[in-house]
Amino acid sequence: MPLTLTIDRVRWEAHQRELIADVPGLVPVAKGNGYGFGLELLAEQSGRLGLPTLAVGVAQEVDRVRAGGFTGDVVVLNPWRPFDEVATAQLGDPSIIVTVSRVEDLVALASKHPGTRVLVEIKTAMHRHGLDPAQVDRSTLDALTLEGWTIHLPADGSLAAARSLALAGLAVRKGPVWVSHLSEADYRALHAELDVETHMRIGTRLWLGDRHAYRTTATVLDVHPISKGAPLGYHQVKAPKNGFILIISGGTAHGVAMAAPVPQRSLRQRGVTVLEGLLDAAGRTLSPFEVGGRKRSFAEPPHMHSSMIFVPGSAPLAQVGDEVPVTTRMTTVTTDEIRWA
Ligand SMILES: *Cc1c(COP(=O)(O)O)cnc(C)c1O
Repeated sequence: MPLTLTIDRVRWEAHQRELIADVPGLVPVAKGNGYGFGLELLAEQSGRLGLPTLAVGVAQEVDRVRAGGFTGDVVVLNPWRPFDEVATAQLGDPSIIVTVSRVEDLVALASKHPGTRVLVEIKTAMHRHGLDPAQVDRSTLDALTLEGWTIHLPADGSLAAARSLALAGLAVRKGPVWVSHLSEADYRALHAELDVETHMRIGTRLWLGDRHAYRTTATVLDVHPISKGAPLGYHQVKAPKNGFILIISGGTAHGVAMAAPVPQRSLRQRGVTVLEGLLDAAGRTLSPFEVGGRKRSFAEPPHMHSSMIFVPGSAPLAQVGDEVPVTTRMTTVTTDEIRWA
């Protein structure tokens, strides 16, 4: 009776192979909830695709991709810090590549863990992590194994920005250049311009790029008729009309109906803040569950593993055991089961 992710294996993989052919040096990213597929599955898939290197977000994720059977090199994207005990314990592993984003961390690794395979992160317009390559001492790099300079651009990063940052790194020491978030065309241009190896890290476009290759469905677990004004749920809110309460798998534990924050600017543009407030006040927030061809309201806020949905009218439009479509945000959802179609 679970929340299920169904993947069309042939279609999913065809998209990945196409992107890999378009992006020489592509490095797949498997981090967080594994883009809804799970880290182990993405690790296994990366192996199937014959990709030699995989990137994870944090050191704690390395064991999960190893459990998925990935045997190649693993890049940890979050920069190493001296207080990160898990990342520090991994420094002796020759298959792990560490990202370093502060001069003092490079110096510490060079003196205490010489030979470590490092990617040196260059500061970008993101102002997230990164250093100015001009501040890096060549002798520090000599003590380490430089696997490349890495550039994490804002969404839709520009070729000009990538080029100037890459050249700043290459002026200090020649090495591969790793980027994120360039268009395929810009990346290929950069790849052609630079006389060093290049890599682009991709998660979303690789795993989620073909929206028709996967879908999430939920199971109807119970159906009850209800009269207008009858109290229901934990909060004993009153049914807004005559209709049906459907209990459907999928709740807070799955990350259902929990959107990642949207920038206030675009919310205001769309008037969503106001609209959501009004719907909440009416106790009729639209749910992501589709019954009878359209999204239905929550009868009350989602529970841990299931949700109470209200269907007005004289027919429930679904029966116990039916599977209904549910719209999920793949970077926050965790399904109970994966099915191959
Ligand atoms: C997460 C991450 C990526 C992948 O981002 P997508 O938008 O999912 O492709 C690439 N590079 C870095 C440094 C990241 O942290």
